[in-house]
Amino acid sequence: MKPVLKLAIQRKGRLSEGSLELLRDCGITFSRSNGKLKVFCDNFPLQILFLRDDDIPPLQILFLRDDDIPAIVAGSVADLGIVGRNLLVESRAEVQPVRDLGFARCRLAVAVEKTRSWAGLDDLEGKWIATSHPRILADFLERRGVDARIRRIAGSVEIAPAIGMAEAVCDLVSSGSTLLSNGLREVETVFQSSAQLVATPELPAQKSELLERLLLRIQAVLRARTHKYILLNAPEAALEEICRLLPGMKSPTVSRLNQPGWVSVQSVVKEEEFWEMVDRLHEMGAEGILVLGLEKMVF
Ligand code: AMP
Repeated sequence: MKPVLKLAIQRKGRLSEGSLELLRDCGITFSRSNGKLKVFCDNFPLQILFLRDDDIPPLQILFLRDDDIPAIVAGSVADLGIVGRNLLVESRAEVQPVRDLGFARCRLAVAVEKTRSWAGLDDLEGKWIATSHPRILADFLERRGVDARIRRIAGSVEIAPAIGMAEAVCDLVSSGSTLLSNGLREVETVFQSSAQLVATPELPAQKSELLERLLLRIQAVLRARTHKYILLNAPEAALEEICRLLPGMKSPTVSRLNQPGWVSVQSVVKEEEFWEMVDRLHEMGAEGILVLGLEKMVF
């Protein structure tokens, strides 16, 4: 029977939209009629590129509950999974980390009622903390030498102080609005999380080959999300200094303007460094700076 590379993603929830968007940006398509939970991708791998296409496992997507994904990948029921780092660490599932996918960023944080005074973690000594991440919290408290008691709750963690279940909570926070609307304030960050691509510990060679192809696409998409294409005009005298500031993928493209002493420079920059660079570029005499988004960036 032809092998199938199975990728488990969250069916519904915080990671599902980001996972589908990543697959779409990677050019992987499938039709999912009637909420099917198991679908084959139409175009990955591109059979046309392979001479012996019988050897290439097709890609199948499994739509699952996110807290089931770590064990399903660890047990080789799925070969790959996209799951939050919080669930991976909490489950202690034995999977291979493959790539931080950078979306669904959030933090696991301790929060207390807004009206409660807060002098520091020692305030939790002997108190109850409600959480759906008891292992991560227990490790954190041990590292920080705090002797608090943990109450496990599967969901609606924020309600715990209001119903007398705990004096504090330790929950996932993204925008912070859930805490705020439940009268809680964040006092301590325990753990940072984002979506991760993970693989089963022993992936067969044929499937590893396909994973490499998938990773090439994923990396091209993720790099494009964090970089921008930049074009600017600059006095030729400043060219050397500008090229040092904007090295790009190999080196910047430089072309001559139809005005003596001026050049046009094109390069790629990290978005987070862009505004810092603009000030420096202005100081060097650059003008007419254009910044464009990228779709894919393949090295
Ligand atoms: P927010 O109001 O944006 O801070 O979101 C907080 C609520 O969303 C909490 O109930 C969290 O459990 C949940 N949440 C936020 N981010 C994530 C995430 N990346 N993965 C899973 N649940 C999350």
